[in-house]
Amino acid sequence: MIRAVKGTHDILPPESAVWNRVESTAREIFDLYGFSEIRTPVFERTELFARGVGEDTDIVSKEMYTFEDRDETSLTLRPEGTAPVVRSYIEHQLYQDPQVLKLYYLGPMFRRERPQKGRYRQFHQIGAEVLGSDNPAIEAEVLEMLELFLGRLGIKESTLLVNSIGCSRCRPRFLQRLKQELAAKKDLLCEDCQRRSETNPLRVLDCKVESCQPIIDGLPSILDFLDDGCRAHFDKFLSYLKERGIGFTVIPRLVRGLDYYTRTTFEITSRILGAQNTLIGGGRYDGLAELLEGPPTQGFGFALGLERLILVVQQTGNLMASLPPQLFLAPLGEAAFARSTLLARDLRRQGIRCAYDFEPRSLKSALRLANKLQAQFALIIGEAELHSGKFQLKRMSDGEQVEVSAEQLVERMRG
Ligand code: AMP
Repeated sequence: MIRAVKGTHDILPPESAVWNRVESTAREIFDLYGFSEIRTPVFERTELFARGVGEDTDIVSKEMYTFEDRDETSLTLRPEGTAPVVRSYIEHQLYQDPQVLKLYYLGPMFRRERPQKGRYRQFHQIGAEVLGSDNPAIEAEVLEMLELFLGRLGIKESTLLVNSIGCSRCRPRFLQRLKQELAAKKDLLCEDCQRRSETNPLRVLDCKVESCQPIIDGLPSILDFLDDGCRAHFDKFLSYLKERGIGFTVIPRLVRGLDYYTRTTFEITSRILGAQNTLIGGGRYDGLAELLEGPPTQGFGFALGLERLILVVQQTGNLMASLPPQLFLAPLGEAAFARSTLLARDLRRQGIRCAYDFEPRSLKSALRLANKLQAQFALIIGEAELHSGKFQLKRMSDGEQVEVSAEQLVERMRG
């Protein structure tokens, strides 16, 4: 037997219906806020991620699916969506539009991580990016949109964590101090953090290794190092959240795993998820477009993990997997079967969800199946019904049975 590759998974019915429902809810809500969809390729030149995400991130240093094309170009299956969106923005000069650009994407991402619950090697993200505004009001608006989206899915017990990681002007001072403190405690850090403490000390704050936690807790807070501009930006962002009644907790060690973030960073977590509890992550990335040789462009965005979101949706049980048929057709005999296939065609063309079985069944067994499928009505089509053109329509909830013509049937089902 050939199995799916480790860390990948099939999305099967009835769960696939939940995926569709979640995706269409995202499209509907994002549309309300003026976001348009962008679809970028699943693979890109490796240098896009090496430069855009950062050489010293876990993603680039350990987790990318990189391969050489036949012409020796190094390609990588996209591990995230922001760098490709910004690449496309620059390539197609989308910055020529004077307006703030709001884009969203949806699709598979690839990271060679250790698979566990809520963590896969091929997983799916929905993400959104706002390009061309440094206004903290846009950040609050995006969080407001996410609150509406999660609310629509019936998710109530999520937590918003926020922080500011400053900018290229004020962060170096913090990094210097961080390096000093980390150097003094180097022996106590995990192997990765020992390296990070020199190459990319901010990453240490993100470490999940148990033994590093007490050390991280004792480190200085980046919020004490923000310059006036970053401080004012962060304060405004928090005041906009308060105005909207959006609850949050400031977590000074929240830095996120990607290098391109500046100023505001945030995560939305759910305790339902256990160890991998981050549902959504995002922040501001004002330097990314320039890093990718584009014009200076402010950016703010997020990505949410669909597998994790679906886990939460299923736990809270607010989305039905798929809608049951409105009508189950129960033909008795070959001629009645032929008639019911055409009847089903006509009903489906009018938007009525029908089901019937392809194997001959007794009336009793057909009704049993209608019950199992949770059909609202069953339509009995026997010899007599074929001749009279009138069918027996049975309401499954209470067994009430009425005689209807084909026209009356459509009306009834619509009603
Ligand atoms: P990131 O792009 O790392 O900021 O991740 C954004 C979101 O994508 C996370 O909050 C998760 O919900 C999801 N995610 C990231 N990596 C994985 C993975 N390996 N498997 C499943 N979901 C993931």
